[in-house]
Amino acid sequence: MTTQIALGAVTIHRVLEQEGPFFDAATFFPSLSAEELAEHRKWLEPTYIDPATGKVVLCVQSYVVKTPHHTILVDSCVGNHKPRPSNAAWDRMSSDRYQTNLAAAGVTVDDIDYVMCTHLHPDHVGWNTRLKDSRWVPTFPNARYLFADREYAHWSEKEKIDSETCPWITDSVLPIVAANRADLVASDHQLNDLVMLVPTPGHTIDHFSVHVGKPGEDAFITGDMVHSPLQTRYPEIGMRADYDSVMAGRTRRTIFGRFCDTPTLICTAHFPSPSTGRLTRWDDGFRIVAD
Ligand SMILES: [Zn+2]
Repeated sequence: MTTQIALGAVTIHRVLEQEGPFFDAATFFPSLSAEELAEHRKWLEPTYIDPATGKVVLCVQSYVVKTPHHTILVDSCVGNHKPRPSNAAWDRMSSDRYQTNLAAAGVTVDDIDYVMCTHLHPDHVGWNTRLKDSRWVPTFPNARYLFADREYAHWSEKEKIDSETCPWITDSVLPIVAANRADLVASDHQLNDLVMLVPTPGHTIDHFSVHVGKPGEDAFITGDMVHSPLQTRYPEIGMRADYDSVMAGRTRRTIFGRFCDTPTLICTAHFPSPSTGRLTRWDDGFRIVAD
């Protein structure tokens, strides 16, 4: 499935790899008491929490951004054949869904000029590489891959100390650097007047989002600065994999305030389909309203 969104000179496609219930909600939002979670489940079910399993419903997807100058892939999902022993849903996947949806977006792997990884977690770097003759090689042979410099420093150091804690760095990030395809950039890097990175730290140490288009015809591709409408309504609620949940909460409140009641389309990585919408206020928080 792919959805085309036209914003002036820029076109955006969602490219889905997976959608469904993935993580137990109580584990996913560790700061919530059982009573608080039960209260929130009343409005999060059935779309955002699966009533049968109590799991958070998520998309795993990339966004393809086509500008007059470049074709850009924001985040690269889980990938095929990657050993992920700690997560059965992502372990050694073998699916043609991602390639099928990439083709439906009208692009081949050769067309991608830039891959931008909002952060270096396993569901955002996987298709950076593919298996070829028992080696991990860049999936997008003509692309420059943008990683935030402090994000890369953090994870490459972690990998050096104990690679078993982050196998996705070993198979999906380091081979890109070894192949001289990586550009380590500041998380406020500006590619041109249509594409700029915006620092959105907290979920990871140097997480960025990607702002594309011209004022009034623009989109903000969040990456994992938000995972659930629970965190738009209550920006201070963290999730289990946060580097710094307090910082992540501050980032959400700042960014949501900046785009609230504006035409900017918010494109989330993980909200269930359609995953996109505009920000409006909701009591002392916010909500993303789909078109
Ligand atoms: Zn993610």
